[in-house]
Amino acid sequence: MSGATLLKESGPREVFCGLTSIVWLHRRMPDAFFLVVGSRTCAHLIQSAAGVMIFAEPRFGTAILEERDLAGLADAHDELNRVVKNLLARRPEIKTLFLVGSCPSEVIKIDLSRVAENLNIELKGQVTVLNYSGSGIETTFTQGEDGALKALIPIMPKSDKKKLLLVGTLANAVEDRLISIFNRLGIDNVESFPPRQSTELPSIGPETKVLLTQPYLTDTARELKSKGAEIIEAPFPLGVTGSTLWIQAAADSFGIEKTLVDTILNPLIARAKQALTPHVEKLSGKKLFLLPESQLEIPLARFLSNECGMEIVEIGTPYLNRDLMKVEIDLLPPDCRIVEGQHVEKQLDRVRDSSPDLVVCGMGLANPLEAEGISTKWSIEMVFSPIHGIDQASDLAELFSRPLHRHDILNPKSLTAN
Ligand code: SF4
Repeated sequence: MSGATLLKESGPREVFCGLTSIVWLHRRMPDAFFLVVGSRTCAHLIQSAAGVMIFAEPRFGTAILEERDLAGLADAHDELNRVVKNLLARRPEIKTLFLVGSCPSEVIKIDLSRVAENLNIELKGQVTVLNYSGSGIETTFTQGEDGALKALIPIMPKSDKKKLLLVGTLANAVEDRLISIFNRLGIDNVESFPPRQSTELPSIGPETKVLLTQPYLTDTARELKSKGAEIIEAPFPLGVTGSTLWIQAAADSFGIEKTLVDTILNPLIARAKQALTPHVEKLSGKKLFLLPESQLEIPLARFLSNECGMEIVEIGTPYLNRDLMKVEIDLLPPDCRIVEGQHVEKQLDRVRDSSPDLVVCGMGLANPLEAEGISTKWSIEMVFSPIHGIDQASDLAELFSRPLHRHDILNPKSLTAN
């Protein structure tokens, strides 16, 4: 590993829970249904805090976790069975039903895997019922996707066909562009997980080469490996360099000539670098502090320091998978400080002491920091924005240059000082 300093910290946390990932997973797989087995707080998180109303008909199992359930006065398993059956009677088009655990369901110890198993026996052929946890006790917001994908792996068909499997939710348009690049390189069999329909799961086997698109898929990567798939070692496709090395790693793994890769990628790289220039002018020399939330922090810091010239004060990450992140850490400037976990008060003290120009953080911390005159960028925007790939590098940089620009407009004095 590079000379980065790796530290751990624990204490009070300020992050979204894994339920949040339902917001992008339901868009990806519109034929799936996510039934949150939680309280009204959980429903409120999805509907309000995440800023979206996810369905015309809300998909929450809140009825089962009223106060009487928490007091142990009702059999929550029976209640959940009833809610699921009512739901499926009204919505027979649902093909995959995820029962998503929450803090309350964990506290009263509802065994969602048992409920799912029983429902699968009873409703065989009509729907597949899966479960995972989005509880804030166990997960941060991107880990919800890791849990959902891991739950799908046991029902993926087996295959001995050689293929490239892109793993992690991407915006459809970005995914199409990346697949077209791989096709031009001669890699024809490219599939995605999660698929665009929950019933069209890709097959998997020893000839499956997995290219992770997102860094927060630790459990998914482990499960895919246990099914015989090979995980291609690569940085993540953020920024020109990360995306180029990511594509190159897949090409190497399929024995594609480097000259062909260069012929196809060089024009894209030249165009992307040109588009990056105005953002680099804005970002270069600015101090960046990344608070832990999405697990995207290390690849983002690598891009913003190496390609945009930002000075990294600290990279927080809720969880550090040293194997998946090794290539990324090797690409960081040698003196970077990475802190795994969170003690939010100590971290905020370090933010204030270092007077950064920009802080990447969760929505809950952004407002207080903005009130202190510190520019912020919400981490959650990174999972809703199409930021992957060479073509998207300038859009990614713009997500960070925009708040600095806004800060300059609101504080004309700082503009003169610059
Ligand atoms: Fe809050 Fe826990 Fe529900 Fe998430 S799962 S909304 S942290 S109660």
